[in-house]
Amino acid sequence: MAHQKSAHYDRVVRKQYREWLDRCSVHLDRMDSELPPPVEDFRDVLKERGVSRRSFLKWTSIMTGTLMLPPVFKPMVARAAEQFSRVPVVWLHMAECTGCSEALLRTSYPNIDDILLDTISLEYHETLMAASGYQAEQCLEKALHDFPGKFVCVVEGAIPLAMGGRYLTLGPKGKTGLEVAREVTSKAAMTICIGSCSAFGNVQAAKPNPTDAAGVGRALGLQTVNIAGCPPNPINFVGTILHYLMFGGLPALDGLGRPVWAYGKRIHDYCERRPHYDAGEFVEEWGDDGAGKGWCLYKVGCKGPYTFANCGRVRFNDGISWPIMAGHGCIGCTEPNFWDTMAPLEKPIQDAAIGGGEATVDRIAMGLTVATVAGIAAHAGATAWVHRNDNDTANKE
Ligand code: SF4
Repeated sequence: MAHQKSAHYDRVVRKQYREWLDRCSVHLDRMDSELPPPVEDFRDVLKERGVSRRSFLKWTSIMTGTLMLPPVFKPMVARAAEQFSRVPVVWLHMAECTGCSEALLRTSYPNIDDILLDTISLEYHETLMAASGYQAEQCLEKALHDFPGKFVCVVEGAIPLAMGGRYLTLGPKGKTGLEVAREVTSKAAMTICIGSCSAFGNVQAAKPNPTDAAGVGRALGLQTVNIAGCPPNPINFVGTILHYLMFGGLPALDGLGRPVWAYGKRIHDYCERRPHYDAGEFVEEWGDDGAGKGWCLYKVGCKGPYTFANCGRVRFNDGISWPIMAGHGCIGCTEPNFWDTMAPLEKPIQDAAIGGGEATVDRIAMGLTVATVAGIAAHAGATAWVHRNDNDTANKE
C-alpha cells in the first residue's frame, strides 16, 4: 500500500516537472524572439574571462539547486544565463546609500554571477551612466519608449512620502522620487526591490521616520519582488532574473514579497554554529574563550533565529564568508523594520514576539541545557549501575 502511494506520488511529481519544463521551454523561446539581440555572445564573454565550459556547467548545477529546481532544469538555467544580458533593465535610485549597487558590482575575482551582472543591459542607472542632467533624462525616456512592458525595473532605496514626496527630488525637472517610481514601474514587466530600503523602507523608515519613507510596495501599492538585505546577496538578484527568463512573471513569494527559494528558511536553520546553540555553548562576550572556539553568537545579539535568508548557504564575497562565519551575529537585515525591532544589534531579544514567534532562545537553551544535564546524569547513573552490577558479578565469581 505504501509502495503504491509512493509510486503514485512519483508519477504526480514527474508530471508536474514535465509541465514546468514545457512551460519553461516555451517561455525561453518567446524571450528569444522578443528580447533585443545580445551585444556580445555570452559564450565568448566566458571564454574571454577564462571560464571553461566545465565551470559554467558546474555553476548551472549550483544555480539550479539554489533555485530549488531538480537537475533536469540545468539546461534551462544555462539557456536563461545565455539570454541574461538581453533583458533591458532600468535601475532607479531613491533614498539610499548606493551600497546595494556596490555589493552587486564590485568583486575581487569575478565568478559567473559577477560576469552575468557585468553583462546586464543597464538602459538607465544614475550611478553608472556617463550621461547626466537632461541627457540622462532622455536615456530614461528612450528606455521607456523602446521597451514598454518588456524591461525589468530595479529600485534601490526607500521612497519618502511626506510633503507629497518632496523630501526626494530627482533630475533636471525636479520630479519627486514618488513620481519617477510611479511612472517607470507602471511600464515595467516586473519591479524588483534591491535591498531592504526599497523593500521595506529600512533605516530611512526607522522611528521617528520624519520623511515617511516607505518601501516601493507600500508607497505605490504594487506587488514587488523584494530582494531584501542590507546589502542583499547578488546571487538572489541573479536567480530572480533567471527565474523571470525561464518562467516569466514573479517567482513564488513569501508574505513579505521575498522569493521563497532564497528567503524560505531562517539563518538559524543553516548556521554552522547551530550545534553549539543546540549544546547550550554561547559566546558570552567579545573575545572570550567561546568566541575563539566558534560558539553560538546568540548572547552577543545574533538575530539568526528570527531572520529569513540564505546568507549561510550562498555566503558573500565570492562565497568566501558571511557575517556569522566572520564572528559577528546576524543583525536581521532581511526583515522589515529591523532597526527598530532588532536593536540593540549586539544584545539578544528578550521577547519571543518577533519573526518565527518561538520562545526565547535563552529559554530554549536553558531547556536544552537542563535536558542535556539530565541526560548526562541519567547516562552517568546508568553507567554507574552497569559498573556496579559488573563489579557485583565479578565479586561473586
Ligand atoms: Fe547561528 Fe545565530 Fe543561531 Fe547561534 S543564534 S546558531 S550564531 S544563527
